[in-house]
Amino acid sequence: MTDSSTRLYVLDVGSILLDPSCTMAARADGGEYRIPVSAFLITHPAGNVLFDTGMDPLTITEPEVIWGPVMDQITPEMEEGNHILKQLEVIGFSPDDIRYVILSHLHSDHAGAIRFFPRAEFILQRIELETAMPDPVRLFYPEPYRGARMDGTLADPVRSVRLIDGDLDLFGDGRIRMLSTPGHVPGHQSLLVHLDQTGDVLLTVDACNDRGQLDNTVIPDGTWKAEVSRSSLALLRSLRETAALTIYGHDPEQWPNIRHSPTFYE
Ligand SMILES: [Zn+2]
Repeated sequence: MTDSSTRLYVLDVGSILLDPSCTMAARADGGEYRIPVSAFLITHPAGNVLFDTGMDPLTITEPEVIWGPVMDQITPEMEEGNHILKQLEVIGFSPDDIRYVILSHLHSDHAGAIRFFPRAEFILQRIELETAMPDPVRLFYPEPYRGARMDGTLADPVRSVRLIDGDLDLFGDGRIRMLSTPGHVPGHQSLLVHLDQTGDVLLTVDACNDRGQLDNTVIPDGTWKAEVSRSSLALLRSLRETAALTIYGHDPEQWPNIRHSPTFYE
C-alpha cells in the first residue's frame, strides 16, 4: 500500500471574538482577542476523515439562532468561505468523500456543521454524548443533538454513530489515533496523526487552547474539571516532546505560522 495519499489539511472555518471579560481572553494589553476556529481533513487510503466540522453556517446570517445568550461574551465570525463544505470544495472534496467524522467534542464551534455529512460515520466519546443530554448543558450543543438517543442512532440527519470509551487507533495502522483528553468537557478527545514526511502531528483541540496553556498549565474558566484537565495537559505535554508539530485548539499566535488548506502536511 502506498501511503502517499495520507495528507493533513488545516481548514479555516472562522473565528471567535472574545469579550475582554472572558478569562480565555485575558491578555496583558486587555485589547481585542480573536481566536481561530479550525477543522481538519485527513486523507487516508482506507477512507477520508474529517476531524470536527466548525460552526453552523447559520452563524453567517443568524448567529443569535445558533449561539443565543452566549453572544453576550463571544462574537462568532464566519464568512461563506469558512463554510465547511466550501473549505472542502476548494480542495476537491464533497460530503460524500468523507467516510468518517471524528468529533473532538460537541461544542458549537466544533460540531456545528454535522448535518452536512449524512452518509459519514460519526465517532465520538460515549460520555460526551451522554453529557450532551441533560438540560443545563444543552445551550452549548447543536440542534441535532437535542433529540439524540443513546441507541446508537442520532436524530436525523446524522445516522451513523460510533461511541467509544477511551483511545482508538482508527485504522489500526497508527496513522490516526484518537486520544481521550477530558477536562474541558467530560468526553473531549484529541488526535495524533502520523504522516510520512512530517512525522507525528498532535491536534490538541480544546484540551489545550494555546501554547501558553500547555507551557504553564493554565486552566481557563469554563473548564469542566480542573484536575482532569491538568492530567490531559500532562499527557499532551509528553506527546508534544516527540511530535513534529503540535497544533493548539484556538491559538491566534500560532495560527499564521501553520500551513492552511489548500496547502497541506504529508
Ligand atoms: Zn473550541
